[in-house]
Amino acid sequence: MTPTEAKQKLIDAGLVLEAEGHHDMTRGHISVRVPGKPELFYMKPHSYGFDEMTMDNLVTCNLEGEKVEGTAPRHSEVFIHSEIFKVRPDITSVIHSHPDHAVAVSTLGRPIRAWSQPSALFVDRLGWFTETIDLIRRKDQGAGVAKALGPHSVVMMKSHGIAIAGRTIEDAVVTGIMLENACRIQLLIESAGHPLKEFPPDDIALLQDKITRLDQMAVNFEYLRRKVKRVR
Ligand SMILES: [Zn+2]
Repeated sequence: MTPTEAKQKLIDAGLVLEAEGHHDMTRGHISVRVPGKPELFYMKPHSYGFDEMTMDNLVTCNLEGEKVEGTAPRHSEVFIHSEIFKVRPDITSVIHSHPDHAVAVSTLGRPIRAWSQPSALFVDRLGWFTETIDLIRRKDQGAGVAKALGPHSVVMMKSHGIAIAGRTIEDAVVTGIMLENACRIQLLIESAGHPLKEFPPDDIALLQDKITRLDQMAVNFEYLRRKVKRVR
């Protein structure tokens, strides 16, 4: 992937996130490592919505969270991204957002149950960050989020939002959408009460393998990218 292709995919990912329940005014951000330079990453600028990224307003930051290129302002919560990239070389893309149902589940503090297909992705695979409701504006706070994430792809940030760590941009975006979907369904079931018995762990593990495949993430991302561009 060229730097231009990475930037374009980041811009399109923002359109998809805005359309799929991850919008909260100008809050929330997404980043991707610069191809060939894993110590740098492109990121959505501060003061713009997910759907307002352009080739000209993206900023480039390093693993200390400093802006090294770009004229637009940098998000003060850059440290969620830089600290995750620092300790997770397997991760290429990070999202932080405040989707309604995920924020509700983060506050309940209960684990995600295998009550729907998207939820299978998160059974026993969630980190929990419970240190503060405040913005993550310092390195040590970002390191706390990265520590809470551990080896997982999602960390629930109590009463605040979520951080997603993706192997690719497609992986991060589709995982974020599946998480919000899983949380919405879980809240519906908990409100109704008395669900049937869950399927056995082996059955859930089989589905986990299928829905976490990178080719499946890419297929679904490309669909969402086509859909959002048709609508616009
Ligand atoms: Zn936030």
